[in-house]
Amino acid sequence: MRKKVVAGNWKCNTTVQEGVELAKAVNELVATEGAKDVVVVLGTPFTHITKVVETVDNSRIGVAAQNCAAEAKGAFTGEVSAAMVKSTGAGYVILGHSERREYYGETSEILNKKVALTLENGLTPIYCCGEPLEIREAGTQKEFVINQLKETVFKLSADDFKKVIVAYEPIWAIGTGKTATTEQAQEMHKDLRDAMAAQYGQEVADEISILYGGSCNPKNANELFANPDVDGGLIGGASLKADDFLAIINAY
Ligand code: PEP
Repeated sequence: MRKKVVAGNWKCNTTVQEGVELAKAVNELVATEGAKDVVVVLGTPFTHITKVVETVDNSRIGVAAQNCAAEAKGAFTGEVSAAMVKSTGAGYVILGHSERREYYGETSEILNKKVALTLENGLTPIYCCGEPLEIREAGTQKEFVINQLKETVFKLSADDFKKVIVAYEPIWAIGTGKTATTEQAQEMHKDLRDAMAAQYGQEVADEISILYGGSCNPKNANELFANPDVDGGLIGGASLKADDFLAIINAY
């Protein structure tokens, strides 16, 4: 059965000290209140990863980078490679977040290199896709998002694709307080799973965790996660408060 995953994306928030405190609080809550059978992941800034890995119980909480370099190593000042991320003890890399696509010009070509390097280094990519508001208003969101997959992760072999977690994040719902309705989320997740089945077969498609992201909070998580094709969430703002994050984890 595919895994349920709740991953936090701290984005460019918290100092190292604040991040360690947040990780400690999440760790304590997970230890005392449990996280059922949910895989919990903390997506921290690069600077925090080693400390957060040291802080949490690694058997219960995974750690993710929010990006990695598109090159393996070399003269790329300021970049952090997938091998470097791996050497911190992190297990995941968030790739293709809409903020990186929009503000840092991440194209499918760049993302293909990042996905490949992540997999080569034994890390799990959390691959983000999602449509902007104008595409949703035009009603072409299904084609748009499936095309994002076709240009990137659908180029992988079935064995590699099985290692990917997909996060569907409608851009109009990210950080806006405007969540996709439970029907909108289920419809897109089902469309994505059908596209995966067409590409790799139903058995592979059924193994892929598809997370929802976009203003997910303790109030709406339960309804969103109740959908058969929603396998958890990628959580931005609400992952910065340990109580809210745990409430979302326990929304299952
Ligand atoms: C995100 O940026 O991945 C996200 C889902 O943000 P928020 O939960 O704040 O909408």
